[in-house]
Amino acid sequence: MPAAKDPATLDFYANEADAYAARGQEANRSWLDRFGSALPPGGHVLELGCGAGQDSEALLFRGFDVTPTDGSPELAARAAQRLGRPVPTLLFEDLVAKQAFDGIWANACLLHVPREALPAIIGRVQAALKPGGVFYASFKAGGAEGRDRFGRYYNYPSKEWLPAAYGPVGWREIEISQEAGSGYDREPTDWLHVLAIKMP
Ligand code: SAM
Repeated sequence: MPAAKDPATLDFYANEADAYAARGQEANRSWLDRFGSALPPGGHVLELGCGAGQDSEALLFRGFDVTPTDGSPELAARAAQRLGRPVPTLLFEDLVAKQAFDGIWANACLLHVPREALPAIIGRVQAALKPGGVFYASFKAGGAEGRDRFGRYYNYPSKEWLPAAYGPVGWREIEISQEAGSGYDREPTDWLHVLAIKMP
């Protein structure tokens, strides 16, 4: 199986955990609203790659039953401090839950999965969702995989490339939107926001 984690990327988050957690990132409100409106009230949400935990905090505030996780023990610890609850360390490749969650939220984290491993990771996400479950993920758009100036790996998909990574079966719908924005590197960035609904 191709490697699903990038050691240099995880080293960056380990070494920069304090600065990264303190960067004052606000929750992704408009996409949290769209995601939340597709979920049952109080539904169970798994957050992957939660970073400092601001999106889990917003989902808890909206009344969902949230399980925040991150693959970096250092960032999981920062999120646990913020949220006042345990935040398990979970690498994407270790997700083994089956039909357990109403929703899975993966903001700006699956963009670090090497391209050849991404379909298998998305397959794990699909398996972990209940029938009709909702999956949000965002990616930095591009044409070919590469690294940023901090050495972090990015899969940089295009809008055309991404549906193949989700696979031809098991989804009722996949909606991809492109929006201009930025990131920790403060560079202008086109983001791809993907909202996918599992077959009922
Ligand atoms: N979702 C958060 C946010 O929007 O602020 C954090 C985004 S940050 C760009 C990427 C996150 O993915 C980091 O917290 C990092 O530790 C986590 N991550 C990177 N590789 C991972 C892996 N293989 N498994 C799980 N988490 C990973």
